[in-house]
Amino acid sequence: MCSKISFNKIVAIGFLGSMVCAGSLSAQQKDYPIQPVPFTKVHVNDKFWQPKMEVNANVTIPYVLEQCKLNGRVDNFLRAAKLEPGDKMSEYPFDDTDIYKVIEGASYAMQVQKNPKLDMYVDTLIKIIGAAQEPDGYLYTFRTVNAKKPHEWIGEKRWQNEEVLSHELYNAGHLYEAAVAHYQATGKRTLLNIALKNADLLTRVFGWGKIEEYPGHQIVETGLTKLYRVTGNKKYLDLAKFFLDVRGPKGESYNQADKKVTDQHEAEGHAVRAAYMYTGMADVAALTGNQHYLHAIDDIWKDAVDKKIYITGGIGATGNGEAFGDAYDLPNMSAYAETCAAIANVYWNSRMFLLHGDAKYVDILERTLYNGLLSGVSLSGNRFFYPNVLSSMGTNQRSAWFSCACCISNMTRFLPSVPGYVYAHDKNDLYVNLFMSNSSDITLTAGKINIVQTTEYPWKGKVAIAVNPAKATTFNLRVRIPGWALNKPIPGGLYTYMNQNQQPVTITVNGKALAYTTEKGYAVITRHWKKGDVVTMNLPMETEKVIANKLVKADVNRFALQRGPIVYCLEGPDNRDSTVQNITVDKMAVTNASYKADMLNGIEVITAEGKSTKRQLNTDKLIESDQPVTAIPYYAWANRGPSEMTVWIPYEASASMPKPAPTIASTSKLSGSIKSSRMLKALNDQYDPQNSNDHSMPYLHWWPKQNSTEYVQYDFDKSHTVSESQVYWYDDKPFGGCAIPKAYKLYYKKGEEWLPVKETTPYTIAKDAYNTLTFEPVETTALKMEVVLPVDNSAGIHEWKVK
Ligand SMILES: [Zn+2]
Repeated sequence: MCSKISFNKIVAIGFLGSMVCAGSLSAQQKDYPIQPVPFTKVHVNDKFWQPKMEVNANVTIPYVLEQCKLNGRVDNFLRAAKLEPGDKMSEYPFDDTDIYKVIEGASYAMQVQKNPKLDMYVDTLIKIIGAAQEPDGYLYTFRTVNAKKPHEWIGEKRWQNEEVLSHELYNAGHLYEAAVAHYQATGKRTLLNIALKNADLLTRVFGWGKIEEYPGHQIVETGLTKLYRVTGNKKYLDLAKFFLDVRGPKGESYNQADKKVTDQHEAEGHAVRAAYMYTGMADVAALTGNQHYLHAIDDIWKDAVDKKIYITGGIGATGNGEAFGDAYDLPNMSAYAETCAAIANVYWNSRMFLLHGDAKYVDILERTLYNGLLSGVSLSGNRFFYPNVLSSMGTNQRSAWFSCACCISNMTRFLPSVPGYVYAHDKNDLYVNLFMSNSSDITLTAGKINIVQTTEYPWKGKVAIAVNPAKATTFNLRVRIPGWALNKPIPGGLYTYMNQNQQPVTITVNGKALAYTTEKGYAVITRHWKKGDVVTMNLPMETEKVIANKLVKADVNRFALQRGPIVYCLEGPDNRDSTVQNITVDKMAVTNASYKADMLNGIEVITAEGKSTKRQLNTDKLIESDQPVTAIPYYAWANRGPSEMTVWIPYEASASMPKPAPTIASTSKLSGSIKSSRMLKALNDQYDPQNSNDHSMPYLHWWPKQNSTEYVQYDFDKSHTVSESQVYWYDDKPFGGCAIPKAYKLYYKKGEEWLPVKETTPYTIAKDAYNTLTFEPVETTALKMEVVLPVDNSAGIHEWKVK
């Protein structure tokens, strides 16, 4: 074994399974100046997170383990281990990571609550993983099985395609993270030995003068720093640093390889890869003292927070490359905001805090945690979002599984680690970062301290912190005052409150008001603490209207509701006619908040008076009517079936999406060769797209069909005389699979027969415009459009009007 330090000497305490207390290794070892209090030391007993962690342990983890079995993940390992015949593999070469991530989640969960049955099952999986490992340590089932038709992402030789698609190092990274978690949770070295054998192979073959290639999908960097912390063996840290330094400048911005990492100053490319890399850079900066990494990630953080983050904390605005979009390009209906990217954003911001000790990083962490991350899993714990949109026409629902299941397994490993973000310490500074009822034991230089937090956060703003030192002692308690309580919903200027909240934050010690100073966003309370001292902070839990920087086009003339750390949305079931896109609420509208214990596992609901808008025939003037409007927390949406949703609420009717006027098309019954009623609804919703590639509006598409003839059909409410059709094609070239069709033809119904209309203008198939076809008037009850798909593409329709 490679380690120079015997394992039994190491006191392994794991936050994210990652941090070993600094004193466990040599005194010279550098690490984060601030150390987190590991989640195993923080016993959360609140009504918000505790039930969610329980659902994760009792529902999500067993569910994902079962899905891994049903969806070939376990078979991949069994076949690589020659324990099962055949060479059929699951869909993606990174599927191995789902097993690793769920083992990581299970390990964390077992650290909090013993579970012998789960422990035994994990042991079985680890045996299979070990048997699938090649003698020299290589572990990657898709190559080891050596299928007759190998996956197209895999090169002939090991790591040959690593910089592009093979994900061999990505798999390794998740293996290491799982191995460290499992070791720290159970004390067993079974998975750790497998990981070290694999990492030793990497240290032999990768490095300057050896294979000089970078990971195509980052995460091995943080995995290696965890192995370094556990073993004390510097070669793992050196390899992590090598994998950062070998990146760029001749690769793609897609995976952050177009520049050296130290020359990167903007958040770009695939958001999950990026945020994992920034996390890895923070780790290596902390462990080596390298300032160049620090300068780079400080700049990147500012770029992301100032210009590229959703109000939900989601990052990676575009599905095109699952990537950061351009500055201020934050579309709502087509928002990507992958769950994995939100998780990675929490990892990254927690590291930034540990480096700098500034509460602004925890502000981002908290915003992400309570909103864009938590939305990734249903209240039931077995339905999942991959993208987390901020607006929906009812076409977005959580899924039971994805063939690319990254977000699902990532959620299992993340949730049990939440208590690890509550406290941190640096010698005699004790940081209180998050607010949830818990009891925790923390060791400072000044001695052992027991902390008991009592609060009904995030619904109520009162937080009581009982400080119980074993012996009376002096230290600094640093209580984070959230930016949202100080009229600063986000560091930088991307989002601001419409009205300044006048309520102060008050802090008392043993009931006496405290005049406190703030430092980097913390109220610093220095005193000689004795058992029974209680600090009480009152945060103003007001409903705020948040507006976005006017450069964010998608949010113009709209506000979002926020109360405490929670971002709200309007959802169909709570609002008239189950529609919300047609709602407007005045800027000055009074809001009311009330707690509903029986709704969505207990939520604070916000209500206001608003209006709804509706189009009418033959005029652009909208019909407005008054209606009550109800908002629920964003994370809790999509738990009651498909429905409309919006986070950004129009305060101008022009920004709303009015209900359609009763045209021939909008009153028709829809059908077609595509069966999705939600997609069909796009045809007559009366939303005009900006262009054929407009993802912000609903559209219909036939992807992945190509080279076939498809149709859509309007059955009118009664017989109408029609003589004109207008169709707007959907086309997402060059990146998507839909183009304008090869041709189309219109038919009308006569009796039981379909007859072609006699056109008086030619058929056109132009992009980015309505294609108007006039024809000799026919009296009919139905129109049908036959669409001939291109040979090598699919096609789609944004809107189809009939006159
Ligand atoms: Zn994902």
